[in-house]
Amino acid sequence: MADIKNIGKIISLLRKEVKDFENPVVSKIGEIQQDPFKVLISCILSLRTQDRTTGPVALRLFEAAGTPQKLAKMSLGKIQRIIRPVNYYITKSKRIKGIAKTIIRDYDGKVPDNFDELMKLKGVGKKTAAITMVYGHGKADYIPVDIHVFVISNRLGWVKTKNADQTMDELMKIVPKKYWSDLNDLFVLHGQNVCLTNSPFCSRCAVNGCCPKIGIVRSR
Ligand code: SF4
Repeated sequence: MADIKNIGKIISLLRKEVKDFENPVVSKIGEIQQDPFKVLISCILSLRTQDRTTGPVALRLFEAAGTPQKLAKMSLGKIQRIIRPVNYYITKSKRIKGIAKTIIRDYDGKVPDNFDELMKLKGVGKKTAAITMVYGHGKADYIPVDIHVFVISNRLGWVKTKNADQTMDELMKIVPKKYWSDLNDLFVLHGQNVCLTNSPFCSRCAVNGCCPKIGIVRSR
């Protein structure tokens, strides 16, 4: 079980560390646009694709079709031309068009404000549903977990989990709720810039002194 006593200290150290790093694309789109549809679609575009590729593609797509109605009407060919730089763009084009149609047909054109309903949308998993709730609907009732949150939580010894979905469940049991809204942003930025998945920069890490570095074989 995690030493939950150091959670507050680590969050505070990471808040200072990440001040100069750029925000993850999905939370940035959420902050700027406060639009659950754009957050949801951006999150799907970002799966297995780098933020620097996803950001401009998402913004280009929203200039052409920023609502479920417009996206549902757009041809697959046109969607694919716009989102081509992201990985798996053909599958993603079908997913996002399908999601737009479902939102119109089943939810009166509005992205559901409910985690379980979001999970019913084809192509939406726990991470995407949590991100849409937190950054799209402004409800900090979930901790979105991607590869960085999964890896860092395990290295810190907060959890001992095998995948992102399990990590989300465990973190929601041990992390005080006041930290939930920050945790994803902090860990993603920390993971992209310091605690890299393959070889972390422990020597310049803000939480070096209180991290047990579980499972680290090679660090810099
Ligand atoms: S000390 Fe190393 S393993 Fe621990 S959080 Fe920092 S970079 Fe990651």
